[in-house]
Amino acid sequence: MGRVTQIPMQMPSLCAKCGERPPTDSHTTQARHRNLITGRTNIVSYSAPVCADCQTALKSRARTGMIVMIIGIGIFLVGLALLAPYFLSMGSMTVPASNEEAIALSNRWQQYTPGAVIAVGGILIAMAGRWFGNIRFARWNGRKFRFNNSSFHSAFAELNPAISR
Ligand SMILES: [Zn+2]
Repeated sequence: MGRVTQIPMQMPSLCAKCGERPPTDSHTTQARHRNLITGRTNIVSYSAPVCADCQTALKSRARTGMIVMIIGIGIFLVGLALLAPYFLSMGSMTVPASNEEAIALSNRWQQYTPGAVIAVGGILIAMAGRWFGNIRFARWNGRKFRFNNSSFHSAFAELNPAISR
């Protein structure tokens, strides 16, 4: 994770998603930028103005992302439960004394492969859900914003020339 900051900015009276209709609501989101030199990720949190139609669509998208994330976490926990005997037996593991013992041990480990695959799959599904649910209105290079919607971006750039590109 990284530091969450806020940057003072003025939002135009326009929906940040469609760039057409006047906003009736706002949608709080985050933009992140990883500094390749320091390796640190900076996160800026901001509220984008949105119209009623876009807000409905964004909320449903955020909800879908959340559901997918919960399913992913559930799958991860199933994988973890399948792996539990493996973790529990780790304490009593000994170095195999013979080839036969080594083969038996390796076979025993192999039966936990599905658990590991399920756990990793669950993490990937949860990450995909999180990614999908996180609405990105703009790209941010650590200093300046570029909104995806070009009419909104022009209006934003006029109000905030120092932080627009
Ligand atoms: Zn809109």
